[in-house]
Amino acid sequence: VNTFESSMDFREFKLNDAGLIPVVVQDYKTSEVLMVAYMNEEAFQKTLETGKMTYYSRSRQSLWIKGETSGHYQYVKSMLIDCDKDTILAKVLQIGAACHTGSQSCFFTNLYKKEYDDTNPFTVLTDVYNIIKDRKQNPKEGSYTNYLFDKGIDKILKKCGEEATEIIIAAKNPDSEELKYEISDYLYHLMVLMAQCNLDWDDIVKELAHRR
Ligand code: AMP
Ligand code: ZN
Ligand code: ZN
Ligand code: ZN
Repeated sequence: VNTFESSMDFREFKLNDAGLIPVVVQDYKTSEVLMVAYMNEEAFQKTLETGKMTYYSRSRQSLWIKGETSGHYQYVKSMLIDCDKDTILAKVLQIGAACHTGSQSCFFTNLYKKEYDDTNPFTVLTDVYNIIKDRKQNPKEGSYTNYLFDKGIDKILKKCGEEATEIIIAAKNPDSEELKYEISDYLYHLMVLMAQCNLDWDDIVKELAHRR
């Protein structure tokens, strides 16, 4: 068991009216925001002593070692304090799911969303991929994706080949509109192939990052 040291004393933090400080918990590798919980001084010290994220449970009014019943512990990698010292950011190695519902992150309920913009171009890829995987698990009447899965790998590969060829033809056109459609078609069929072969975007992203 490691003992960590903080560069700042708990007394220097700006606490809320209940004497607690909110902690934003982030996956140290993916930067995914996992949950928000609160610490009192004891929870903060215990986290430093044990290396396991320990909070103050407002509902139980007691110290709460995250994962003590679920096994879904969080091993602290780093903690930061924000500009006005009223919020901690903890980067953790999350064992299992952070949320007690079984979700990786507590933030899975959408409240408001703009249409797809260019802030994170990969959101749409993972969203479409998840729908494709869901079709594989729960086939839907009249679904073109299910038609492809039913026909099998050879049909999927044939479509990938066709769409790749269509990209080449479209690229000859000085107007990039057609190319946009063909690249989109290709990416969709590529994701059907990925789902068929049990490859996730995660696998691709890891491989590409590995090559840098
Ligand atoms: P755990 O700390 O994961 O063993 O979970 C123990 C209990 O803490 C659960 O039954 C929930 O009541 C609560 N809990 C666990 N994770 C969360 C979370 N991310 N947000 C809020 N409450 C949680
Ligand atoms: Zn600031
Ligand atoms: Zn702040
Ligand atoms: Zn939750």
